[in-house]
Amino acid sequence: MDPSTLAVTLGRGAENPGDPVNAPVTFTSTYRAGGDVTYARDDNPSWHPFEEILGGLEGGTAVAFASGLAAASAVIETLPAGAVVVAPADAYNGTRRLLADLESRKRLRVNLIDMRGWEETEEACEDADLLWVESPSNPLLSIFDVDGLVQLGHQCGALVAVDNTFATPLRQRPLDFGADVVVHSATKLLAGHSDVVMGAAVAVQDDMIDALRTRRSLHGGVPGPMEAFLAARGLRTLAVRLERAETTAVELEVRLADHSAVEVVRYPGFGSMVSFDVEGGAKAADRVCEQVQVIVPATSLGGVETTIERRSKWALETHLPPGLLRLSVGLEHVEDLWDDLARAL
Ligand code: PLP
Repeated sequence: MDPSTLAVTLGRGAENPGDPVNAPVTFTSTYRAGGDVTYARDDNPSWHPFEEILGGLEGGTAVAFASGLAAASAVIETLPAGAVVVAPADAYNGTRRLLADLESRKRLRVNLIDMRGWEETEEACEDADLLWVESPSNPLLSIFDVDGLVQLGHQCGALVAVDNTFATPLRQRPLDFGADVVVHSATKLLAGHSDVVMGAAVAVQDDMIDALRTRRSLHGGVPGPMEAFLAARGLRTLAVRLERAETTAVELEVRLADHSAVEVVRYPGFGSMVSFDVEGGAKAADRVCEQVQVIVPATSLGGVETTIERRSKWALETHLPPGLLRLSVGLEHVEDLWDDLARAL
C-alpha cells in the first residue's frame, strides 16, 4: 500500500465489532501482576500505534523515545566504552553537543568530518564503530549519498545510523539501503503540530531492536502516553501535510532566489525546509525575524505553522553564514507567506 494509506490504516489496535476506531490511551505506571508486562517504563500500549505506523513507513520496527535526542542517545549507548563515532561537522547541533559531552568524559572518541568529501569520509571510516549520517542536514540542507555511506560504513565494520528527521520516511527510507538504525525527532514533521517532544529509533535486526528497548528501559527515556497518542495522530496526516508544505517550499525557494535582498537559497529538492542567507548578515537577518507577522520567529520545525530562525545565534552554530535564516514551511497559504517574507525582506 501507499505510505499515505499505511499511515491511516496501521496502529488501530483491536478491530472487532464495537471496538473503538482509535486505540485507547493508557495512563498507567504499573500492570496487574502475572502478565507479560509489569511496569510502564518497559512498555505501554499507548506507544504501539505510533510505533506500528512509523515502523511500517520506514520498513522496520520502531522504538518510541521521549525525544529525538533520547533516541540518538540510546543508539550511541549501544556502543562500548572508547568507541569511535564519525559524524558530519554540520549535523544538528544537539547531536554534536551530545557527542562532545560524551567525548569530554572519555566515553567515546568523536571525529566530526565534512562528509561531502568522499576521501575524507573513507579515511575517517577506517577506525569507526559508528558512522552517523544526517541527510538533509540541519540547517545547511546538505544531501549525502546515504546508500554509498551505508556501504562504506559496513565495509569498515561500523554501524550506520541515519537521522531521517528532515526527509521523513515518505522521502527517504535508509533501512532500504541497509542502514542499521534510523533516528527521528518525532517532535518535528512526524507529530507535526509543535505540541509534542518525542523521538524514535527504527531498526530491522533483532539484536539492535532489543538493544534499543533495553536502553529505553534502563535509561528511562520513555514517552508519555499522551505524547505518543498525539504523535500517532500527527503521523496519520503526514503525507498531506508534507505534500502541501513541500509545494509551498518549492515556490518560496524560487521567489527567494529572485529577491535582491537574498544572497543564497538552499533547498534539497524535497521536504519543507528552506534556508537562505540575507544580505547584510546577522543584523539584517534578525530584522527579518522581527518583521514577520504571519511567520513565527521560533526555533524547532515541522509544525503546521511556518517558523523562522537565524541559526548562527546559537553557540555551536557560529560556523554558519551569519545571515542564514532557517525557514520551516508550514501549511499557511503560499501568497500569505510570500507577502509576509517579501515585506520583511
Ligand atoms: N535531529 C534533528 C535533525 C533535529 O533537528 C533535532 C531537533 O531539532 C533532533 C534530532 C533532536 O530532537 P528532539 O528535539 O526531539 O530531541
